[in-house]
Amino acid sequence: MGEITRRQFLRGSATGLAVGSLGAGCAQIMGGGEVGPKKGPRVVVIGGGWGGSSAAKYVRLADPSIEVILYEPNRTFVSCPFSNLVLSGVRPIDSLTFDYSRLQKHGVQVRHETVTAIEPASRRVRVGDKSVEYDRLIVSPGVEFQWEQVEGLAQNQDKVLHAWKAGPQTVQLANQLQSMPDGGVFVMTIPPAAYRCPPGPYERACQVAWYLKTRKPRSKLLVLDANQNVVSKAALFRAAWQAYPNLEYRGSNKVVKVDPTTREVTTDFGDKVKYDVVNLIPPQRAGTIAVQADLVGNDKRWCEVDHVTYESVKAKNVHVIGDSTIGLPVPKSGNVANAMGKICAVSVVHLIQGKQPPALPPGNTCYSWVNDREAIAVVNAYKIEGGKVVQIEQKLTPGQSVAVAQNAVGWATSIWHDMLG
Ligand SMILES: Cc1cc2nc3c(=O)[nH]c(=O)nc-3n(C[C@H](O)[C@H](O)[C@H](O)COP(=O)(O)OP(=O)(O)OC[C@H]3O[C@@H](n4cnc5c(N)ncnc54)[C@H](O)[C@@H]3O)c2cc1C
Repeated sequence: MGEITRRQFLRGSATGLAVGSLGAGCAQIMGGGEVGPKKGPRVVVIGGGWGGSSAAKYVRLADPSIEVILYEPNRTFVSCPFSNLVLSGVRPIDSLTFDYSRLQKHGVQVRHETVTAIEPASRRVRVGDKSVEYDRLIVSPGVEFQWEQVEGLAQNQDKVLHAWKAGPQTVQLANQLQSMPDGGVFVMTIPPAAYRCPPGPYERACQVAWYLKTRKPRSKLLVLDANQNVVSKAALFRAAWQAYPNLEYRGSNKVVKVDPTTREVTTDFGDKVKYDVVNLIPPQRAGTIAVQADLVGNDKRWCEVDHVTYESVKAKNVHVIGDSTIGLPVPKSGNVANAMGKICAVSVVHLIQGKQPPALPPGNTCYSWVNDREAIAVVNAYKIEGGKVVQIEQKLTPGQSVAVAQNAVGWATSIWHDMLG
């Protein structure tokens, strides 16, 4: 994979050295300035995360005559996959942080700005007071939190952390965990499905429990899950939790209130639970721009799309990919967002060229670390039948192992390169 070898990657992980860039040169990253009028076909992409970066790169790979403008406010990309390992101190955040310079080498114009409106009728996006035309728009804004669903949360966002978008909050939560006195209670709350990364909270529970077991053996982790049972890889996670007598799991415990002054959360049954550190993962919906542009369905949360082209069912020439979508039998995962990005790119290029897009199904492999050395995984295979994505099979690893964890490192290394390298 070019500049990052697996050996370097592992070394970076073990010593805390930053990987930081996918072998980036020192290409200048564009900031503001005007986008000129369209001279030929143009694709605009909203969001430089898992879906958007992949889509932007693959449109350029498929047809370099198409102008691609990617809007992403963040100057660096921080990977949510593997970010639970930052909480346990197994990995430094730098090893999950990359810049966008390689995308520019593929001819993607990366602009670190926020798209403020979508105007499908005139095929334009607004970026503040600027207006930018497109032939096709690809929207991959990820998730936004429904703060209003938990009383006391909106006004306490600086104290009650989610760490569900990897970045500064991931490091802050790791610091809170490290500063917690031995004998303390760490409370983690899981929102009702659908939410970003179904197995993610349970992987996080493993990492926090592992950290407490090895560093603060008198402490406890209490997991309050709004769902009835573990949502993903349930038997494998429950087997892994045998090693963690410090972990207590309570299903059907939806948290509806948080009070940082009394350090207490309240469930929908009225039970009050005291914490020393809380990690509250709020309920979620599609990224705000998708909601504002009314790309969401009647639930006002998620966007329905065509299963082959990812064109929105509500707006022509606007394609939605990644976590913001609903209706496909796929998890909200980085692996799926990357696959959707590539498939959508192929479709968009075909449509611009006046050709019929091929019917390509996504795939998904999802790894979860259960301690500092071992992982579990699930693989989903899909096909397109009657214009819809359907699942062919799902396979789980028989148990947790070091070998699966090594595969996870290989997966991450290659998919990060696929998106941004
Ligand atoms: C703790 C954790 C662990 C995870 N582990 C895994 C894993 O092991 N494997 C896996 O496959 N997945 C995993 N995931 C899930 C994965 O991170 C998401 O599914 C993936 O990020 C979705 O990609 P996306 O493109 O939809 O959104 P994102 O990657 O979040 O990208 C959205 C981007 O859009 C930008 N944006 C939003 N609005 C605008 C706007 N108006 N203008 C411009 N830009 C905008 C945002 O800044 C953001 O960068 C994990 C998630 C978490 C939280």
